[in-house]
Amino acid sequence: MNGFDIDNSMKQSQLEMPYPNEGEGGQHQNTHEFATSYDAEEDPNDVDNHSISTHFSYHDGKSLLEQGIKKLALDHLHSNNASVDSNLGMKSQFPSYFGNSPLDAAASVAAAGIPRHERRLSLSAQQAEPEVLISSPMSQKPSSSSSAQILDVERIKSAQYKMGLIADDGQHSYDSPSLELVELYSSVSDCRELREKYQTLSLQKHHQNPKNRPDWKIYPPPPKPSYNAANKTVVKVSNLPDSKSFDINECEIPGLDEDVDFRLNSDEVYVLYDTKTEDKKQAGNVFPTLREYYIDMEKIISVSSDGPAKSFAFRRLQYLEARWNLYSLLNEYHETAVSKKNPHRDFYNVRKVDTHVHHSACMNQKHLLRFIKHKLRHSKDEKVIFRDEKILTLEEVFQSLKLSGYDLSIDTLDMHAHKDTFHRFDKFNLKYNPIGESRLREIFLKTDNYIDGKYLAEITTEVISDLENSKYQNCEYRISIYGRSPDEWDKLAAWVVDNKLISHNVRWLIQIPRLYDVYKKTGIVENFFDICKSIFLPLFEVTQNPQSHPKLHIFLQRVVGFDSVDDESKVDRRFQKKYPKPTLWDSTQNPPYSYQLYYLYANIASLNWWRAKRGFNTLVLRPHCGEAGDPEHLISAYLLAQGINHGILLRKIPFVQYLFYLDQIGIAMSPLSNNALFLTYDKNPFQYYFKRGLNVSLSTDDPLQFSYTREPLIEEYSVAAQIYKLSNVDMCELAKNSVMQSGWEAQIKRHWIGKHFEKEGIEGNDLEKTNVPDIRVNYRYETLKTELELVKHFSSFASLSASK
Ligand SMILES: [Zn+2]
Repeated sequence: MNGFDIDNSMKQSQLEMPYPNEGEGGQHQNTHEFATSYDAEEDPNDVDNHSISTHFSYHDGKSLLEQGIKKLALDHLHSNNASVDSNLGMKSQFPSYFGNSPLDAAASVAAAGIPRHERRLSLSAQQAEPEVLISSPMSQKPSSSSSAQILDVERIKSAQYKMGLIADDGQHSYDSPSLELVELYSSVSDCRELREKYQTLSLQKHHQNPKNRPDWKIYPPPPKPSYNAANKTVVKVSNLPDSKSFDINECEIPGLDEDVDFRLNSDEVYVLYDTKTEDKKQAGNVFPTLREYYIDMEKIISVSSDGPAKSFAFRRLQYLEARWNLYSLLNEYHETAVSKKNPHRDFYNVRKVDTHVHHSACMNQKHLLRFIKHKLRHSKDEKVIFRDEKILTLEEVFQSLKLSGYDLSIDTLDMHAHKDTFHRFDKFNLKYNPIGESRLREIFLKTDNYIDGKYLAEITTEVISDLENSKYQNCEYRISIYGRSPDEWDKLAAWVVDNKLISHNVRWLIQIPRLYDVYKKTGIVENFFDICKSIFLPLFEVTQNPQSHPKLHIFLQRVVGFDSVDDESKVDRRFQKKYPKPTLWDSTQNPPYSYQLYYLYANIASLNWWRAKRGFNTLVLRPHCGEAGDPEHLISAYLLAQGINHGILLRKIPFVQYLFYLDQIGIAMSPLSNNALFLTYDKNPFQYYFKRGLNVSLSTDDPLQFSYTREPLIEEYSVAAQIYKLSNVDMCELAKNSVMQSGWEAQIKRHWIGKHFEKEGIEGNDLEKTNVPDIRVNYRYETLKTELELVKHFSSFASLSASK
């Protein structure tokens, strides 16, 4: 089960994969030469020392295997634990997994199919448990007993991973833990409770969303599966693309809800009230006010900037990383062997979601270039833009630019962002203009223009059809609502529905650019409330009576949530303690990130309550956050958002990073995009987050600016795999994460990653679909559980001392 017995399936070919943690370079150069120099550094006579080391380097492993020694050495290890203890730097008097130790009983229990929860807490911690805890839920272990019933013993056994030996901090006293530790864990626990409150009240949790219920109807219905798992055959099915089968007349549009109406509260957030009760009391949930929100945020800010908390979180994260390294060292072969035995699946045919793509940059440059040339050849006389008081045809536009179709190339298009955009978000934004011309952006990349977004719809149809052909790739597109006028929603919805941009492989997120200062300067808005109103009033109207905006109602069924976008590196220090209401915010300065996020959150919270009541899908908040700028942004997103995009600044605030780990908040990361804008690839914290077990996925951000190939998402994975030396299992785990983070309906996720995906640990894993071995899932699950139990355990002392 555990220990160091060499895996029988270990083959020469596997050994040739470099170890992940091996520091030496030049592995593919002259092996012989390197081996000699290695021998010269160490004492060549010290054979024993070499043969019992578990840290076989690549060259060690290769040469030992050639001589057949490695198998012997590992067998030797198996039977000789004492020397292993000293080898791993652990004290040999500690009970070990094998041999005659008190923990043998526990090990055999685990082998019999009962997960070894007892061992997660160290002995000293268990013995110091307060009496109250004995009957607490922690000791009931609900999930473990049920898992033992549902899963067969074999499966639990096969998910056991090797972690060397169990060390026990027996040298510590059995008294109550130190006050400092109790305080630190209590603040972790408090922060988590705060987030829980904000998430639950805004109905952003998975199970609160009506679309995740089993009876949710998806129209058009999802494609029929072509693989029959029961008899392992591929069935021929003909699936019509959604754009062909979609018919607006088939859509059910509910009528008016007479029981509930909406108005503004004292923070100028839309809230609901019951129309029947005389006093017009607020209906539905009561979410935190702006003041409460800033108080809560202040609490987390003060903890996360506190010295001891910082170093505490830093140490936990370091521990998680070290634990991963040990796990990976000891179990890599087993993992690969399991995924090799899994028929049919590999990285290419597991479902993956591009969790963060901006729609107007969803095609690659070559695609856009081909499209522009095609239009110039075939519809040059089409009237496309109103400029300088007259309507111009496409040909006239290009004449005014002194360009012909022949001149066009990727170089003249100049939309790649690699070199001159670093720390220059302003320059990056200009890259959206083909040939540096805003009029071409307006013609080809806008939904609301003279041709009603016809060209962008055509190119989107092509991109969607590529996605559908790839079958396993899916995208969550960000599309803008600016908040300049309330009719934006209807125009956008009509654009999507009329052009039938509806696909099983696509879901939408609404991105709200933080551009108040620009609108204010140009006189489009009076104050910040004008923006809130334009964004949310139509949504409340359509929820009250879908028949008032039928197309918007249909579009919203395909919308997952909201994103908040713009340059985070703009200065937004808070300059006052108390914030004015949105109608009073009429200065030329942009409101801070945290303030804008609150107004998104609070309005979404009310809206969700109403939508859930009516059985409509609810919306989540998944903003761009922690890409640049003030790390405070991450704290407000920790409370308000279900997931975030980027998050690279978490590396600077370990305490908040630890919180993101414990709550498994989804982070859609785009190292290639960061590389062009804010952080070079080698410094990107992605690989550390991944090792530590944060819930990360890979996404492309802007294929138009960053990618060179027809499959931007695969390109993103491919670069990451090569730079960070990700294994196939790692990539499949990332793909699984991306599906979990995404906003597809539970019914579809079930088809993609397994029937029980909502369950924790190996119960929720379906190797046949995800290609992630149980052993990996089990490692992640037990590691997280351990941390959560520690939090619960130590913080329980605080409540105990407080109640005395
Ligand atoms: Zn982005």
